[in-house]
Amino acid sequence: MEFQISNRMRGMKPSIIREILKQMSDPELISFAGGNPAADSFPAADIARFSAELLENDPVGVLQYSVTEGVPAAREAVRKFANRHDEVVKDNDDLILVSGSQQILDFVTKCLCNEGDVVAVENPAFLGAFLSFRCYGAKLVGVSMEEDGVDLTELEKVFSANPKPRFFYCIPNFQNPTGRTMSAEKRKAVYELSVKYGVPILEDDPYGELRISGQPVAPIKSLDITGNVIYAASFSKIMCPGMRLAYCVCDKALMKSLVIAKQGSDVHTNVWSQRICAQLLTRTDMDRHIEEIRQIYREKAEYMMRLLDEKCPQIRYVRPEGGMFLWGTLPDGIDMQEFVKRCLERKLAVVPGNAFLVDETQPCQNFRMNFSTPTKANIEKGVEIMAAVLAEMDR
Ligand code: PMP
Repeated sequence: MEFQISNRMRGMKPSIIREILKQMSDPELISFAGGNPAADSFPAADIARFSAELLENDPVGVLQYSVTEGVPAAREAVRKFANRHDEVVKDNDDLILVSGSQQILDFVTKCLCNEGDVVAVENPAFLGAFLSFRCYGAKLVGVSMEEDGVDLTELEKVFSANPKPRFFYCIPNFQNPTGRTMSAEKRKAVYELSVKYGVPILEDDPYGELRISGQPVAPIKSLDITGNVIYAASFSKIMCPGMRLAYCVCDKALMKSLVIAKQGSDVHTNVWSQRICAQLLTRTDMDRHIEEIRQIYREKAEYMMRLLDEKCPQIRYVRPEGGMFLWGTLPDGIDMQEFVKRCLERKLAVVPGNAFLVDETQPCQNFRMNFSTPTKANIEKGVEIMAAVLAEMDR
C-alpha cells in the first residue's frame, strides 16, 4: 500500500532531538541532548503508595471514563496549586487538565489557526511547539530574543503586520533553549502589546517552578484582565513526565473550543494520573519536593558551568536562573555543526542550536546543553570531550 500523506503532514520532519535520543541505546553515549528531568527526583514511593490505595478503595473511580475537563477533585487541587503565589486562574478563567503541555500547544493551534495563518514565536524556541504549530499549516514568524526576553520593537512590528498573527508563543521562564528569563517589565510590555493589537499570548511555563537563583517573576497570565493570555504549565518537571499531565488556564469562552478539541482527540486525560496528581498535591509537601529538585538542578548547573569556565573558556553561555539548559555560543571560526558532529563521534550528544530556529538554515554558533539528566561524573566527562574537540578544531 502506498499511502497518500496529507498536504498538512507531507514534508514535516521529526524532531531532531527525538532522532538524537533514538541513538541513546548506546550505553557509552553521554547525553547533554535531552530534556529529561533528573530521575532521582521522581516521587516514585508516594506514587506507588497512592496508586495501591486508590485501586483498592476506588477502582472504578480510577479506571472508568471521566469528564473531558478533568477529574473535579484533581482540577480543584491544581487550581489551588496554580494560584498559590500569583493569581493565575481568575474568575473569568477555566482550567483543563491535559495530556502533557505538548497537547495544549496542539489544541490551541487546532482552535485558533487556519491553514496558512501566521503564528508569532520567540526565535529560537521549543521545537516541539513549532512542530505542533506546523502540523496545522501555520506559518511561523520568529521574533528575536534579547537577554531579558523578546525584542519588543520587533514584536510590535509583527503584531501590527498584515496578516496579524493568530497568537504569540513565548516561554517567559528559563526559556527552552536559551535559559533566558523574560523580565517583569517586558512581561508587562508584551501583555500591553497583546491588548493593543488583539493578539493572544500562549504563555508556556513548564519550567517556572525550577528556579535555582534570583527572584521569581510573576507569569504574564497574572497581569491578564482581558482574557488575552492562554497559560500552560506542566507536572512533567516537578512530578514525572511519564504521567503526561499538564494544565491550561484560559478565558472560559476559548476553553469551550479547547474542550471540544480534546473530545475529538483523547476524550480526557488519563484518570489514574489525575488522581495521583491530586493525592500528591493534597497529601505531600509539594513545595518541599520542588525545593529538593531545585537543589539537585542548582548543584548540577553550577557544576557544569564551573567545568565549562575551567576547561572550555572559549564557550560563552547564558547563566540561567532555572530550568534545565545552558545555551552555549562557540567562537567565530569554529563551525558549530562540525563541533556537534565531532562531539557525537566521541560519544557526547548536544543539540545544534539551529534546530530551535524558525529557519534552520540560518547561520548559528549556538548549541544546547542539558544539565538535569547527566550524572556529575558524566557532566565532567562530557565537558572534557567538548574541550578535546575544541582543542582539535582550534589547531
Ligand atoms: N513546552 C516546553 C517549552 C518544553 O520544553 C516541553 C518539553 N520539555 C513541553 C512544553 C512539553 O512538556 P510536557 O508535554 O511534558 O508537559
